[in-house]
Amino acid sequence: MIVKERKKPKELLLLELLSNRKMLSARDYKKYQNLSLGYEGELRFDAYTKKYGEKLIMLNDLLLRHNEQYFQIDSCVITNDAIYLFEIKNYQGQYYFDKDILYKVPNKEIENPILQRNRATSLFRMFLQSKGIQSPLKSYIIFIHPQCTIYQTPLNQQIIFHSNIQSFLTKLNENQYSSKKSQSIVKVLESSVHQEFLPENSLSYTFDELQKGIPCCQCGSMNTELINRTIKCSDCETEEVASDSIIRCINEFQELFPSEKLTSGIISKWCGNSIAQARCKRMLLKHFSKRGETKNVHYIKEEEAHP
Ligand SMILES: [Zn+2]
Repeated sequence: MIVKERKKPKELLLLELLSNRKMLSARDYKKYQNLSLGYEGELRFDAYTKKYGEKLIMLNDLLLRHNEQYFQIDSCVITNDAIYLFEIKNYQGQYYFDKDILYKVPNKEIENPILQRNRATSLFRMFLQSKGIQSPLKSYIIFIHPQCTIYQTPLNQQIIFHSNIQSFLTKLNENQYSSKKSQSIVKVLESSVHQEFLPENSLSYTFDELQKGIPCCQCGSMNTELINRTIKCSDCETEEVASDSIIRCINEFQELFPSEKLTSGIISKWCGNSIAQARCKRMLLKHFSKRGETKNVHYIKEEEAHP
């Protein structure tokens, strides 16, 4: 049972939207690739837990804080006897450990996931103690990619490779679940989760520099055109009902520019003027709440209007 689902990381989402509309800098592109790979690995792990661990009480993607320090837990399983933490790595290729340093073959040093895992585990342990929870912690690193080999893996470091995941989860699934104690731990964790935030200036972009238009819902290409009531992609030929495309563009605009006012004028411009302002206005009136009068008319999300 998944108590808390995983969400696409905010930074990955923004980079994905930006990559459709501008050329990412080399640094941002690298970040985009790494985040995509990491997220793919996490989804792959989730697919295994759904298949082999249907009894598991599972919380994914926990951002917690202890002593002013934030730490992230990729996945967490609560059994009656222990709490299991999982750090998921989607490394592909050949690696080796040498004196506590991890290298990618031939000799590129990379961040040691054992240190990262140990930091998160230690903070998590202190966090539990501060909440009065006594439960043994077991933490594992999962190398999820089928083509990942790590030589000289240190012993006793609770590392699981792709080939062992199925048997590990099947065994974990045989544990006893849902005692009162584990329910109370779930409650504490759920109420302690922090919303993901992006460090200021982690990504920089402006409305003017981004390409306007409607990206394809399938491949992200900006080579789309409005034909009757559908948006058609010239690259992959996917078609989407235009009203769905407009809503998608409005949501993208809000993700990228959360502090900008939503108006029919700006959305029409954002869609590359392919959608008339009057039509954008109808969509906004239908799906959002109107605020202000005459020149100050703008729209806000329903849930913000009626919290
Ligand atoms: Zn397409």
